[in-house]
Amino acid sequence: MKLNRNFDYDQPSFKPVALVSERGRNDKQRELTHGEVNEFGQISDETKIHLISEKFEEIIKILGLDMTDDSLKDTPMRVAKMYVNEIFRGLDPKNKPDITVFKNTYRYTTPLVEMNIPFISFCEHHFVPIVGKANIAYIPGDHVIGLSKIHRLVDYYARRPQVQERLTQQIVHALSDALHTQDLGVVLQASHSCISCRGVMDQGSSTVTSVFLGKISENKSMIDLLLKNGNG
Ligand SMILES: [Zn+2]
Repeated sequence: MKLNRNFDYDQPSFKPVALVSERGRNDKQRELTHGEVNEFGQISDETKIHLISEKFEEIIKILGLDMTDDSLKDTPMRVAKMYVNEIFRGLDPKNKPDITVFKNTYRYTTPLVEMNIPFISFCEHHFVPIVGKANIAYIPGDHVIGLSKIHRLVDYYARRPQVQERLTQQIVHALSDALHTQDLGVVLQASHSCISCRGVMDQGSSTVTSVFLGKISENKSMIDLLLKNGNG
């Protein structure tokens, strides 16, 4: 199996919006003002936090909760900051980790495997957590990567509203680009809160997604290892 180069992996599936609904007037939109967008036409973090906080306050009120309650009054701002600075920080390309690679001076040419890399993502259908771990293998060519960079890359793509299939592909593409190799395997195993906390309410299941490319896809024992539950 080869990498599908037509997949625009680095782009968030959400484009920055240029218009926002005016408060209380859903039928009317206004253009964002100069100070609210940066030089790339994207909304600045400050503005995002401000706008999300406004909207979230409306949601709390619509739900019938008392915004004057001490415990709730700062919730809209807390949620907005959490969205922008933490759980969805992977939507902003400026947060992409710098991937430094090193020359493979010791000519290591067998698979390097990184197991049980924990990640937390959020399902884009319900905005609730996806909690899982990644098993990753690659066969170094001329370059190797710092191990922690693999973890940071997983974390960066996880911190978006996601579907697990796309997250898997994004990690594969980013690693392939950084390492100039197509000998890669990525397996994600994750529990989806939208399955465990609502709907079918299944608490014990997990979802496995995988991509095996190049020599890894021909290596049965490597595939078995990557698919193995990390607890086993
Ligand atoms: Zn969901």
